[in-house]
Amino acid sequence: ILILAIESSCDETAAAVVRNGREILSNIIYSQIDLHTLYGGVVPEIASRKHIEKINQVIEKALVEAGVSLRDIDAVGVTYGPGLVGALLVGVAEAKAIAYAAGKPLVGVHHIEGHIAANFIEHKELEPPFLCLVVSGGHTHLVRVRDYGKFDILGRTRDDAAGEAFDKVARAIGLGYPGGPKIDKVAKEGNPDAIQFPRARVEDAPYDFSFSGVKSAVLNYINGCRMKGETFSQADVAASFQKAVTDVLVGNAMHAVEEFGVDKFAIAGGVAANSALRQAMAQACEDRGIKFYYPSPIYCTDNAAMIGVAAYYEYRNGTRHGWDLNAVPNLKLGER
Ligand code: ATP
Ligand code: MG
Ligand code: FE
Repeated sequence: ILILAIESSCDETAAAVVRNGREILSNIIYSQIDLHTLYGGVVPEIASRKHIEKINQVIEKALVEAGVSLRDIDAVGVTYGPGLVGALLVGVAEAKAIAYAAGKPLVGVHHIEGHIAANFIEHKELEPPFLCLVVSGGHTHLVRVRDYGKFDILGRTRDDAAGEAFDKVARAIGLGYPGGPKIDKVAKEGNPDAIQFPRARVEDAPYDFSFSGVKSAVLNYINGCRMKGETFSQADVAASFQKAVTDVLVGNAMHAVEEFGVDKFAIAGGVAANSALRQAMAQACEDRGIKFYYPSPIYCTDNAAMIGVAAYYEYRNGTRHGWDLNAVPNLKLGER
């Protein structure tokens, strides 16, 4: 089974060709990051316009690199939510047009289901059930993957997503956009125990997260320094913030691992590319004798390969969408 997959939910215009759900024949990503860096974050209207400009080239390149034509494709998979509505619409309209013209079935995919499915690409032996921590720009979910396309959300963030916290803190300490990779890098030069930022727990919800407190604590800390006319160490703040976030992510995830007695644990989403988080999770899983899975950084941040993988399993489960498929900006995981 060959899937042509399209992803345009945020600021990456991406297309990929995936064979039998696990083999990536091509993975083309046009990142708009440079464009949005000017504004310190993603500007939705600019993102949509750029998607329109790039999407045909990106798809063409994905087909050429995979050495296939539209005739060889079995289905077209596309992210239809969650994400920026205007950005999603470009991918959805394109996917519908291609599927209709080529006479192929259309399979709409949940973006977060794609992030989770990224783990299947490089771990051919990984199969559900397992637990997965999704940490991305807009989501922080602790998910039980019961089967392909079948999820129970055990916990979620009550306020900021993990990636959002990274981006906001990075901006506050003068690292700019996108914050996650920059904090990851400068934190390597800093002392993670230099500043004690809070580790928030949500009462009576052991799997929920809250990151607005740690973000405010960082802002208070640097404002305090400025008021006293002192400078602060960017590297120490970055390392200490990263440690605070990582401690909570690992703590809640391992609590769930023990409670549910699983032997496989995975991470997914842009923040899963974070080197400190990967290291801490690897250690925690080793201590408990369970297998730890994580995608290569290129499959952690937005890409269409992961959407192709998710689309394959949805296709196999019988999911088909009609020509009335629409973008659903707040689509819930597990909804059809
Ligand atoms: P969502 O998937 O929730 O809709 P998104 O698609 O915008 O949001 P992703 O592409 O999955 O998010 O991830 C982008 C996020 O990952 C950004 O917040 C970015 O700062 C963060 N990120 C990327 N690399 C790293 C890293 N090495 N360390 C920490 N955060 C990172
Ligand atoms: Mg992005
Ligand atoms: Fe994403």
